[in-house]
Amino acid sequence: MTFDAGFTNRDSLRAFWRLQKDFRFEASHLLPNHDGKCARMHGHSWLGRVIIEGRELERSGPKEGMILDYSSISEAIKPLVDNYLDHWHLNDRTGLANPTSEELARWIFDKLKPWLRGLVCVVIEETCTARCEYWGYN
Ligand SMILES: [Zn+2]
Repeated sequence: MTFDAGFTNRDSLRAFWRLQKDFRFEASHLLPNHDGKCARMHGHSWLGRVIIEGRELERSGPKEGMILDYSSISEAIKPLVDNYLDHWHLNDRTGLANPTSEELARWIFDKLKPWLRGLVCVVIEETCTARCEYWGYN
């Protein structure tokens, strides 16, 4: 019995939920200092993913049992996608001089962090075999 109680306490301290919500956008970019084909303007069908963590569920109301409503996540992402990412040239629109997946993931994280409680990571996939995770934890 003592062991069970101890295990339960330790388990509850570590337990958490992790939500993931994907979004897509089409955009061009170029990497001006690249020593290969990425120096030329080209486009990708980008996949973005936000990862949100939480230890407590909403206890009442319309969001009861949730960390965060997936629709709230989508509402936070949509203005960013519409105004900065989808069908834009990322070098111009984001202000990033060298918009690699790494730089773009951090840029998106910083833009979304104020609006998404529990945001810990943004994933950017520029092809179906190449992706980058930025873990902000701030
Ligand atoms: Zn590229």
